[in-house]
Amino acid sequence: MPKIFQLSPHEAQKIAAGQVVERPANIVKELLENSIDAGASHIQIIIKDGGKELIRIIDNGSGMDAIDAIACFKQHATSKITSVDELPSLTTFGFRGEALASIAAVSKVTLLTKQAGMMEGSLVTAQEGTFERQDAACPIGTDISVAHLFYNVPARAKFIKTKETETRHIVQTIKAMALAYPHLHITLTVDDMLLLNCPAQDDLIGRYAQLWDNATAQHMLPISAINSQKRVSLTGVISDHQWLRYDRSGIFFLVNNRWVTNSGLGRALLKGYNNVLPPGRYPMATVNIIINPALIDINAHPRKEEIIFANPRLVEQLIQEAVCAALEKNLSRQLKKVVTIHQSVAAPSSFAFTPASLSAVDHIPPAIDFTKTISLPPAIEPLQMQQHMPLATEMVTTPAVMPILETAHEPYTIVGQLHKTYIILEKDDGLYLVDQHAAHERILYEIFSNRFAKIPTINLMFPQLIAVDPASIGIIESIIPLLAEHGIVLEPFGKDQLVIQSTPVHLKDASIKEIIEQLIGWIKEEQAVNQQEMMQLLHKKLRAQMACKAAVKAGDSLSHDQMQELIDDLEKTDNRFSCPHGRPTGWLISKAEIEKKFQRRK
Ligand code: ADP
Ligand code: MG
Repeated sequence: MPKIFQLSPHEAQKIAAGQVVERPANIVKELLENSIDAGASHIQIIIKDGGKELIRIIDNGSGMDAIDAIACFKQHATSKITSVDELPSLTTFGFRGEALASIAAVSKVTLLTKQAGMMEGSLVTAQEGTFERQDAACPIGTDISVAHLFYNVPARAKFIKTKETETRHIVQTIKAMALAYPHLHITLTVDDMLLLNCPAQDDLIGRYAQLWDNATAQHMLPISAINSQKRVSLTGVISDHQWLRYDRSGIFFLVNNRWVTNSGLGRALLKGYNNVLPPGRYPMATVNIIINPALIDINAHPRKEEIIFANPRLVEQLIQEAVCAALEKNLSRQLKKVVTIHQSVAAPSSFAFTPASLSAVDHIPPAIDFTKTISLPPAIEPLQMQQHMPLATEMVTTPAVMPILETAHEPYTIVGQLHKTYIILEKDDGLYLVDQHAAHERILYEIFSNRFAKIPTINLMFPQLIAVDPASIGIIESIIPLLAEHGIVLEPFGKDQLVIQSTPVHLKDASIKEIIEQLIGWIKEEQAVNQQEMMQLLHKKLRAQMACKAAVKAGDSLSHDQMQELIDDLEKTDNRFSCPHGRPTGWLISKAEIEKKFQRRK
């Protein structure tokens, strides 16, 4: 008996749809591209339940006539090419005519559309491969609703993530489109709440104020470059080195205005920042690469997301150089500015603002408050905050210098502090250098890790409000219990604020906002791991982060008693030989080696 059957065209289409539609954000992208191709200047996007229940896009573009309103759902239906030979020179988004056919195969679509000059518009309902059209009154343009995504393909529906994750992908897609087309008026309503309202802008920087905030817009630097043979050029904006994030979600690449991914481009961008980026920090950027379409292949990916360049080095080199040049220009301007600020606040003369120390500071406030105190754990007195220098780079180690070994429980004498960064100890077997930040970080990390010790917290008399990206509220909600376990008690307040009710004593002066942003960054970067692993990882990260924030910094001067306290605590601490990030807490320069250096011993 034969076993082979041919699938019905509709079943085949449902399977093929998976190529184009993997998640709701892909639909949003396809529909937005269609609206842009249709010349729209105003686009409204309405989302419900992460796009699973509804994706609706209303544009004021050209609209379709009664025939096209049905024809657009047919496979390979496109008004944009008639032969594959036209592909290389195409500048519109669509070109394969499969988006609407695929979307209609796996959801319930309603289309309302009217062309200029027509008396009547069309209302088309598309479901399970059938299409019904009737005349309808509507404005010029297109209003398309995609409801109940994957209702008829349960196997695919299973792969859709939580509402928060899908909403985040959709917001990311819309941000990319808004950045690629600043002159469009775009609005986004999520679950009946207006999340974005971005009227047309003259330039990209104005878009940053709309999509993020004014402060972000002020930290964006324009970049532009053209390759010597004029084969590639680029324009865009990048954040200066004071405005960094904890994840890559602020980086957008466009090729001929089309949002693409390509890991080489991302690497080139980061290389442009040289050693200015601390580990785990990423800039924000929108880089639009203008290149002859014949030198790229955009068809490599079914959703046209990944791009292949005929000569990737050329493009990467251009990005790297443009980024480097823009940062250097900004830095020289910045340095001049900083000097005048320092004179006006009578900064210590030893405070040299070198480019290297600029780099470690995320957000340099307009004037630096040198009188601000930081708090140590209860046993140690508050001390004067000096400057936030980057941790000294790896010590130069010679074989004579060894990490502290298990000999630490001996009497010691504190000799003093070196470079406001290291505590110098004299012991029987030699000279110890202890990194004050790394040591304190380890002590605090172990305190935070002790599950049986209740973390002392303080209730804030005036609960603190902090602003957060509305798109991240979902993630924050999912980590509220985790934060509470660590003494950070907060709840969402409106769509873009958090109210902090209590914090661990150790953290009272540290930036909770920064800690939360960093956690959100990790969650976004670590999406691959499963829920349980993720929670364990987050507990660890949060502890390390709290320890790092609460610990004394390199550059803080410590009194003799404070050093004593720190070393005593370190001696009592588990895992005392390295900080939570794996750097050594101290080094021994052995007595024998010192004697050898002074030729007292051979
Ligand atoms: P493609 O964009 O690749 O041509 P689609 O399936 O996305 O294929 O769309 C099919 C056709 O439907 C388009 O070529 C266009 O003529 C028409 N169309 C789709 N969306 C719109 C819209 N928002 N406004 C006007 N025409 C549209
Ligand atoms: Mg299309």
